[in-house]
Amino acid sequence: MNRMSVDDKLGTNMFRVDEEHAHITIKQEKVDHKEIHKLLLACPAHLYTLDEEGGLQFSYEGCLECGTCRVLCGKSLIKDWDYPENGKGVLYRKS
Ligand code: SF4
Repeated sequence: MNRMSVDDKLGTNMFRVDEEHAHITIKQEKVDHKEIHKLLLACPAHLYTLDEEGGLQFSYEGCLECGTCRVLCGKSLIKDWDYPENGKGVLYRKS
């Protein structure tokens, strides 16, 4: 049996990106590094990164809509969290 890694499985997903509306936005002011570290480690799609100055960067386009960031940092770093509009966002595929 040919087993796929988690990253390979995630790579089979497709996305209908809503170019006009980010369904998740983050706060940029008063960045708490403990909170940032949670997001860097926990997002399964690795959408939270640090720039060269240590600032938090986020890209919603590959979001898996798991809600982990909202649970962990919904009161600290997440400004708005919602699902994408109907028909947009991640399209999970069987593999
Ligand atoms: S909902 Fe999940 S996949 Fe999307 S940004 Fe948050 S942790 Fe990452």
